[in-house]
Amino acid sequence: MRALVLILALTPARAQEEASFRKAFYRECVSALGQLDSTKEHLSFVLKHGIDLQISTSTAKIPAQAVGLYRDADKKMYINEDILDKGRRELYYRSVEDAEVPKILAWKLLPTLGHEIRHAITHEKIRRQLGFSFDMPSLEDEMISFVDTVRVLEEAIQKNPDFWLGRLSLRIDGSDSALLGAWKKNPTALKQLVEPLYPITPSVLDLTHAEFLARVDASVKERRETRAMVVKAQKLITELKDPAARAREQRLLDDSEADQTSRVDLERFERLRGVMGDPANYAKLKKFFKSQIQALIRKTAPVPQ
Ligand SMILES: [Zn+2]
Repeated sequence: MRALVLILALTPARAQEEASFRKAFYRECVSALGQLDSTKEHLSFVLKHGIDLQISTSTAKIPAQAVGLYRDADKKMYINEDILDKGRRELYYRSVEDAEVPKILAWKLLPTLGHEIRHAITHEKIRRQLGFSFDMPSLEDEMISFVDTVRVLEEAIQKNPDFWLGRLSLRIDGSDSALLGAWKKNPTALKQLVEPLYPITPSVLDLTHAEFLARVDASVKERRETRAMVVKAQKLITELKDPAARAREQRLLDDSEADQTSRVDLERFERLRGVMGDPANYAKLKKFFKSQIQALIRKTAPVPQ
């Protein structure tokens, strides 16, 4: 529905302006990724694996409150269009030249891009090293990605300090200083800041195999219920007598992408349940996260002041 409203609101000239903004924004993102030491690995990874960046308002793709999200199943990183719009509006009110906007926003969102691409790198490493997919969120996965958020942020600010100062300092930068402050203290402070952001995300290192399996089972159950609801909705639509109502309801269901999303999501979790049912696989996963996090702390922990 939302997509329809947007299309109606866009005049041809506005649509063209929008398309050229997006093109410029993508170009600036790729260019910025290539300019920092902390993102070189990220750029070559996305190029090698053909991972796309998509600006999206679909809550089936990205939760309303998230800035960015990476999804293995789609090989895509999603950037929340609403956040990008907020940044654009603020820059517009501060009379920043239109031509400057894509570049400024690309740099502001670069830490998020670094974070999301790190998820992709971590998942690929698990597949390569452990021989199975671990396609669900975990606190360890988030911690590893948050280290990228702060490393990229630090380097991005060093490279373009003006983008974070005066009239270019925006509300969407809100959490930047808290993250940097925690990181400058120590990795534990960063962990303490990150954990409350993900209250329902399980920790592979903290949970036993049985506890972890219970979490996966709950996720499978929840997805089976969602899937059953979508199947039921589809059946009800098919049974509608009025062709106009049937077409309308079908369009709404199709627009929400619920059918495909719920099916893919359930299949993914059932596969995961199969893999995680084996205690040896869970032990391998624990070992993997433990060594990754230790290596990160050794390599990137700031010198205490
Ligand atoms: Zn994340």
